[in-house]
Amino acid sequence: MASQRQVAEAPNIWAVAQQQFDEAAEKLDLDDGLRRVLRVPKRELTVNFPVTMDDGHVEVFTGYRVQHNLARGPAKGGIRYHQDVTLDEVRALAMWMTWKCACVNIPYGGGKGGVIVDPKKLTLRELEGLTRRFTTEISPLIGPDRDIPAPDVNTNAQTMAWIMDTFSMHNGYTISGVVTGKPIAIGGSLGRNEATARGTVFTLLQASEVLGVPIRGARVAIQGFGNAGSIAATLLAQEGATVVAVSDSSGGIVNPKGLDPSKVNAWKREHGTVVGFPRSETISNADVLEADCDVLVPAALENQITTHNASRVRARIVAEAANGPTTPEADEILNERGVFMIPDILCNAGGVTVSYFEWVQDMQSFFWTEERINESLKGIMDRAFGSVYEMSQRHEVAMRTAAYMVAVNRVAEATTLRGLYP
Ligand code: NAD
Repeated sequence: MASQRQVAEAPNIWAVAQQQFDEAAEKLDLDDGLRRVLRVPKRELTVNFPVTMDDGHVEVFTGYRVQHNLARGPAKGGIRYHQDVTLDEVRALAMWMTWKCACVNIPYGGGKGGVIVDPKKLTLRELEGLTRRFTTEISPLIGPDRDIPAPDVNTNAQTMAWIMDTFSMHNGYTISGVVTGKPIAIGGSLGRNEATARGTVFTLLQASEVLGVPIRGARVAIQGFGNAGSIAATLLAQEGATVVAVSDSSGGIVNPKGLDPSKVNAWKREHGTVVGFPRSETISNADVLEADCDVLVPAALENQITTHNASRVRARIVAEAANGPTTPEADEILNERGVFMIPDILCNAGGVTVSYFEWVQDMQSFFWTEERINESLKGIMDRAFGSVYEMSQRHEVAMRTAAYMVAVNRVAEATTLRGLYP
């Protein structure tokens, strides 16, 4: 996914993250000292580490692990492998994780990691070597009580298995709770694969209730047909919605009468893209965002809804399954036009929530049924939506600002209660 990352308006996302925090802090009238503490990461580790490549020569890679805030619990956040990773990007993503975990009220702070590498240029053995050495280099920071990585762009369950094994080898016994997003066979959780999409659907059902826009019969357009997008399509169709348009990196397809997500999935598995699906019209990716629909689910990349297309978005509700799909300027345009936004730190928090369940199960060595996981996820997502919606109504602010206010408030309270040591 990451190699296709495109940035239409490319603001420095660390500056954006700080600006979003500043706005919430202002609305909450946060103490100046507290603002200074929360606006920067607590810890940043940069590592330059060697990997022996398959032909015997040695390459040196650079990686980062950033912990933004630990007031509410250990750091939680993914590790991405991408050639464009920067320290600023990792900082922003770590800060967003702090707010996301606080927004859904799970007991974690925010962290993120990244390695500057194009993983498609490495063999599997080289990737394993890179992962194991990177784990070794960041092991002073990580651990089930300190900082718990997870998959992100270009990392997956296998990557997590290598990290878990390396960390366990150092300690001499199995420590499955050091990462989440692991394969089920070594302590992964049922329901994790579907969790992000399922959480998105729970927030959409809540939004439909407060807005009086039923999901049954709603027309949905989805950008991105990967983990989040394709599963959201399936779950929304099960709720009676009509999926009218979807897209992937090759383009989009539309059928106002509806697309069957399971058939589109099968087509994509066979042909590598949704494009060409029978009885659909091919459209561009940009067209999908502007499709005639009630609900738009961006589930691909950051910076997709921009000042160039925000005024042409026709959906009544935008549910941000992706991280950062809307630029701050576009956000304002949508808000002015009365589009109801379910912001990313709320909308896609189902993933980290089931990661939290995975960690709880690992720590207790007691594994839950999928039914219990989905019910618990619903409870957390519904409560989080309720808190954010209530905040937006009480302060007459947009849902994104409200989500930040809920989250920053919780982190500020924890930080204040703990006080400054020494
Ligand atoms: P993925 O790699 O499984 O899927 C990404 C999809 O986007 C693919 O279908 C790809 O073809 C498509 N895509 C790429 N470029 C595109 C373009 N220009 N236009 C339209 N589609 C394009 O990734 P994912 O895990 O589904 O993640 C998608 C988004 O959701 C990301 O922003 C990610 O950060 C966010 N997210 C995912 C999770 C999770 O648990 N998977 C959790 C939280 C947030």
